Amino acid sequence: MPSFSLVIVGSGGGPDETNLSAYLFKPFDSAWEDGILALEAGSGQGALAQLLRQNPQLFDSPGLASSSTRSKPFTSAEIYSLVTAFLITHAHLDHINSLVISAGSLKGTRKRIYASKQILQDLETIFSDRIWPNLASWDEGDEEFKLLYTTLQQSHYDVVYPSVSVCCMPLSHGHNSGGCYESSAFFVRHDASSCEFLFFGDVEPDKVSSRPRTLHVWRAAAPKIPHKLSTIFIECSWPCGRKDDALYGHLSPEHLVDELCALAVEVVNHRRGQTTPPVARTRPLRKRQKKNPVTPDDLLNSLHGLRVYIIHCKDNGDAHPDKPMRHVITEQVNALVAKRGLGARVLVAEPGMSVEI
Ligand SMILES: [Zn+2]
Ligand SMILES: [Zn+2]
Repeated sequence: MPSFSLVIVGSGGGPDETNLSAYLFKPFDSAWEDGILALEAGSGQGALAQLLRQNPQLFDSPGLASSSTRSKPFTSAEIYSLVTAFLITHAHLDHINSLVISAGSLKGTRKRIYASKQILQDLETIFSDRIWPNLASWDEGDEEFKLLYTTLQQSHYDVVYPSVSVCCMPLSHGHNSGGCYESSAFFVRHDASSCEFLFFGDVEPDKVSSRPRTLHVWRAAAPKIPHKLSTIFIECSWPCGRKDDALYGHLSPEHLVDELCALAVEVVNHRRGQTTPPVARTRPLRKRQKKNPVTPDDLLNSLHGLRVYIIHCKDNGDAHPDKPMRHVITEQVNALVAKRGLGARVLVAEPGMSVEI
C-alpha cells in the first residue's frame, strides 16, 4: 500500500503566477477531510479552483469510507480550510505567495508554518504590518492568530501531523548581498511504514556553490534507496546549455545529473559497506574502498527503483510555443540520466497531477 497521496497544485518556478510551487498531501490511509499538509504555498486557492473545474474528482480517494460518502466534490476553499500546516523550504515569493495572500481569510483550524528559524524570520519581514498585515505569531497562546510559526530543527525528525515527521536539511540557493542564501530539503516520513519521500527547495549545484551542502542530503538519502525512499522531487529551473554564471542559485539538466551521480556514488558505497561481512568491516574496508573507487560502470542501474520528479522549471513561452518548458527540461534530464545508465525514472511534475508515494 502507498504511504502518501499527493496533489500537485503548481510545479513551476515562474513567471506564470498560476503555476508556482504548491503541493498538498496526506497519509494515504487517511481521508483529505482528516487534515491536509501543504508543502510550499506559491500558488494556492485560485490555481486549485482552476484545476478543480477541469477535474472535480481530483481529491477522490477510492476505498476510503469517509470520501465515498461525500455527496459533492471539494471546493478549493474547502481544501485549504482542511490544511493543518504549511511546510516552507524558503521564503522566496514563488514559494509563499498564496500563503501571504490568503492569510487573512483562511478557514478551519489554526495552521502551523513549519520551516527553519532563518526562513521563518524571513517570512516575518513580510508579515510586518508594512508589506502585509501581521497575521502570524510565534506564541501558541495568541488565539486570534490563525498562523503559528513553528521552527523545524535541522537534521532531526519533527512530528508535523499524526504519523508524519519531517527532517529539514539546509541547502545553498545562490549568493546575495547577505552571503549564501539558505533553502531546505525535506525528508517527509510516514512513521507507521517508515517510508519517505525527499522534497528539494530551490538549490544550486554543489560544484558551483561557495557552500556545497547537497552532498549531506545525498548521504542521508542513500541508505534508504529504493525501498524506504523511492520518490524525489527536485528542481531543474533551466534547460541545457545554461552558463554557470547565470544559474542564479538553481540547477540545469547537466548539473542535476551530476548531482544524481553524486547520490548514486553514495548508494554504491553504502551497498558495498553493507555487503562486507561484519568481521572485515574495520580497517580492511577502508583500504578496499581506497583501492576501488566507484567507477561509471559501478553506477549502472544503481538508482533503479527511484522516481525523480522534475519541478520548478522556469517558463519561457517564446522558445517552445507548443511545448511547456517542464516537458523540454524533463526530456533533457531523462536523456542524460539514460546516458549514464543510472536506472532512475525521470518524470514531469504537472499541475493537477495526483501522485501516490
Ligand atoms: Zn523558487
Ligand atoms: Zn528560490
